[in-house]
Amino acid sequence: MTRRRWIADSRTDTTATLTGDQAVHLARVLRAQPGQIFDVVAGGFLHRAEVLSVNEESVVFTLHEELEAEAALPVHLLMAVFKFDHMEWGIEKATELGAARITPVLARRTEKHLAQAAAKRVERWRRITLEASKQSRRTDVPTIDEPMPLKLALSHVTSETKLLLAETEQENSLRAALQGEVSRVSLAIGPEGGWTPEEMSLFSGSGWQPVTLGPRILRAETAAIAGLAICAALL
Ligand code: SAH
Repeated sequence: MTRRRWIADSRTDTTATLTGDQAVHLARVLRAQPGQIFDVVAGGFLHRAEVLSVNEESVVFTLHEELEAEAALPVHLLMAVFKFDHMEWGIEKATELGAARITPVLARRTEKHLAQAAAKRVERWRRITLEASKQSRRTDVPTIDEPMPLKLALSHVTSETKLLLAETEQENSLRAALQGEVSRVSLAIGPEGGWTPEEMSLFSGSGWQPVTLGPRILRAETAAIAGLAICAALL
């Protein structure tokens, strides 16, 4: 079984410090003692680490050797901003499933008030990914970009395989698009009202290929989860 990983809140060259809930949990529930060995993620690297000092405010570790960490699923999600409660749920699940990066997109059919409030939500989305990373024992935390319009988001995409999840596509399945030599993938998921025809042509002009997840219309968060699960199975 993989050991539980702890994610450090700060590190120096030789030590890492955990605070907040993790410190309380180590001190009070696990009764950690100096000298005990844990796996700690510090500054994005996984280390074997030895407890140096413990109290409920902070637990300090001496960092020992770096351990091999499994990489995130090489999937970049472009997720249109949609109803925040559903979107947060989607972000949490995408983190558990291993997404490497999430770009919130201000789509044409993203509701106005959501688009206006999105920038202020980023901090909360980042906290959700941090918590979900800890919970799912990830060694890294996915990047959440600042929300941006589609055109700009498309210019940030570096994957060779770019797949637009579209309920209007009837032939090409996501599964078929992932056959062969595919290493890094970007998946775009539209808002509740779907992408507009102009957005669809922006995508096709940037080399995106529409793919379907089947004949039913899924909610955006369901499409994100299903899309990632298929990537996880096939990549
Ligand atoms: N406008 C649509 C709903 C959009 S669903 C309607 O009500 O008719 C929100 C997003 O989920 C879509 O933009 C698409 O990215 C994704 N999605 C939903 N169902 C899908 C399916 N069957 N295949 C691929 N993507 C889907």
